[in-house]
Amino acid sequence: MNILVINCGSSSLKFQLIDSGSEQCVAKGLCERIGIDGSQIVYTPAGGEKEIHVTPMPDHTEAIRLVLEALTNDRTGVVKSLKEIGAVGHRVVHGGEKFARSVVIDDEVLEAIEACNDLAPLHNPANLIGINACRKLMPGTPMVAVFDTAFHQTMPREAYMYGLPVEYYEKYRIRRYGFHGTSHSYVSKRAAEVLGVPCESLKTIVCHLGNGASVSAVKNGKCVDTSMGLTPLEGLIMGTRSGDIDPAILEFLAHKENRSIDEIMGILNKKSGVLGLSNNLSSDFRDLEDGYHRGDAYAVCAMKTFAYRVAKYIGAYTAAMNGVDLICFTAGVGENSPLVRTMVCEYLGYLGIALDQEANEKRGQDILISTPDSRTRVMVIPTNEELAIARETVGLV
Ligand code: ADP
Repeated sequence: MNILVINCGSSSLKFQLIDSGSEQCVAKGLCERIGIDGSQIVYTPAGGEKEIHVTPMPDHTEAIRLVLEALTNDRTGVVKSLKEIGAVGHRVVHGGEKFARSVVIDDEVLEAIEACNDLAPLHNPANLIGINACRKLMPGTPMVAVFDTAFHQTMPREAYMYGLPVEYYEKYRIRRYGFHGTSHSYVSKRAAEVLGVPCESLKTIVCHLGNGASVSAVKNGKCVDTSMGLTPLEGLIMGTRSGDIDPAILEFLAHKENRSIDEIMGILNKKSGVLGLSNNLSSDFRDLEDGYHRGDAYAVCAMKTFAYRVAKYIGAYTAAMNGVDLICFTAGVGENSPLVRTMVCEYLGYLGIALDQEANEKRGQDILISTPDSRTRVMVIPTNEELAIARETVGLV
């Protein structure tokens, strides 16, 4: 069965058509600048050339119409008609406490997702627009919602409660939710599969290090803690997000710089992280690594601070699970930066970790990068959120 996977943002939409039998991607692409001048669709059929069409997309319905047209047309299409698309899997960022697993979408589910909009005001409304546009253009095709938060719903109360008056949890459901759940779930399971051991027998720490970054503790296949919180701002230092800071800094900065709360939140989300630490050199680790090798003091500080924070979370989650068997690196930085992995693992001598430097230099494969005598194993597992969404979708339809 062909599964269309949709990841819909406010002005962009990523898609992949996956054959669930072979688990191969049949075609993929991206619509950019939806609702803005200069919108374009980038489309790549498997084994074919990438095509870019600049064409007006006043809304998401038009973007999805163009995606379906590209997938079915005589020239570049990979299926003859929409009947060959068996189901659609939608990435939904926030499922609140309501969704601990993926669900088939109906009117009631849509209402429940809408009820979570407050918790992810930038993401959930866009996800809903994508779902509604698909339902309009593909009536009768089953749709599934796969939530970024769902995998983390197994966290115990002591891991998800904040030290705030409990009434705010009871009134507003303010608590830790965590994100990147599809990736943490996929990587922890895939690592166990590669090692040939059941994931139910492992204590795993997954470091998803991309533009957005989070760590999770997965004990016996279930998430017991994760670094992102009510929103994706908490935890690690990220590309442009601050991660953990003293909450009193908000008030201090607001007074000193005469800024509103919205402006402060803008600084924490968009101007902080390694971008801010590197004195605006870059949020991209490729640039930061260049700076690090040149000896740029800001780039060195950004990378060291980033790696230190990851190592601290690994220490915390080792305590949370009373030990760790396996540490996995994934996502853009985790998969592609031997330097970051080395910098993190340098803190982990107490776990008996020794990296196999040759394996650590390899890219694009599931690979053990610790030596055979390393007491704790370390792996790189390229994440595949689209495949994970397609699997969930097939499982439900
Ligand atoms: P997201 O999905 O959160 O946007 P990704 O997981 O795609 O992020 O990661 C993107 C980041 O990966 C880039 O910003 C860049 O810092 C990093 N990255 C990609 N390739 C490399 C590389 N070869 N070396 C170091 N970092 C890389």
